[in-house]
Amino acid sequence: MQAVVFRKERGLVFEDVIRPDLEPDQVLVRVADTGFCGSDHTLVQSGNLPDGYILGHETSGTIVETGRDAREAVPGTRVIIRPTWCGTCLDCRSGRPYFCQNNRRSIGIGDLPGAFAEYIRVYPSMLIEVPEGVDSRNAALAEAFAASLHAVAVTGKKGGAVLVIGGGTIGLALVRLLKILDFGPVALSEPVLEKRELALGFGADAVIDPLTENLGLRVFETTNGTGFETVFECSGVPACVQAALDAAARGGTVCVVSVISRPVEIPPILLNFKEVWLTGSYSNTHEENRRVLGWMAEGRLDGRPLITDLIGLEELPEVYRDRIDTGRAIKVMLRIGEEF
Ligand SMILES: [Zn+2]
Ligand SMILES: [Zn+2]
Repeated sequence: MQAVVFRKERGLVFEDVIRPDLEPDQVLVRVADTGFCGSDHTLVQSGNLPDGYILGHETSGTIVETGRDAREAVPGTRVIIRPTWCGTCLDCRSGRPYFCQNNRRSIGIGDLPGAFAEYIRVYPSMLIEVPEGVDSRNAALAEAFAASLHAVAVTGKKGGAVLVIGGGTIGLALVRLLKILDFGPVALSEPVLEKRELALGFGADAVIDPLTENLGLRVFETTNGTGFETVFECSGVPACVQAALDAAARGGTVCVVSVISRPVEIPPILLNFKEVWLTGSYSNTHEENRRVLGWMAEGRLDGRPLITDLIGLEELPEVYRDRIDTGRAIKVMLRIGEEF
């Protein structure tokens, strides 16, 4: 089958690889679409992957075959894929199955090969059925929206003024979800015009260009001087953690959604003087994915405007170099097999 694999020294390479054999407890899914995620970019950049590994976890497809011990999965069912969890450990019992370390199975960023390929092997508990009325491209975007929905859940907030810093896929998805959830005003700070325009299309109440505008002044104007009750850091720029704390209201919450591995210096006095809660979010749950798919089925949520590059598998190495690594693309979507 055709796939894009990671090769040491060379990065992403389009290749013909052997189609996986099924274990008795596995399910074979024919991939329809797979999105390229920011974490895929981070992993390729780090070079910290086994030679020959196949990335790709934001995927939609159709069940085509089931092992003899995986009969609960029905061929023909349209699905998206999320990691497994055990259900009995402390994390699972505390409602955080995404932290589960027992027999964790995941595609594209874990033990199983990912979905930059025509077929993937998965386990039945990884399958989430795609409801009627949701096409394969929107379905492949569901996980990115679920990650954003999870960030909202981490803050525990039900409404109020929100600032999103950074208008990549996750930041823009947050803007759209916050509007569906009746937060407001919802503002986005993002230097790229195209991304600010997408945010307005997603219902943002205010957009800010942090390179030409005074962010502090715009925060003051947009919130009548109080600051934002919730701030989501989605830019990945280390200095924006401080900017997020500055923009937060007294008693507000700052949630770091982006992955920043470099140390960031912040004066803890900000935490004293404003009693700001500083937290972060990680992954998402099956339930959050189902909620997103439900909104898509109802026609309230359409992620497809995020897709700036719709490409074939063979184009990925070049698009990675020219559009992903340069930060030009918002969401690269790979059209791999038969779409629905
Ligand atoms: Zn992802
Ligand atoms: Zn567990």
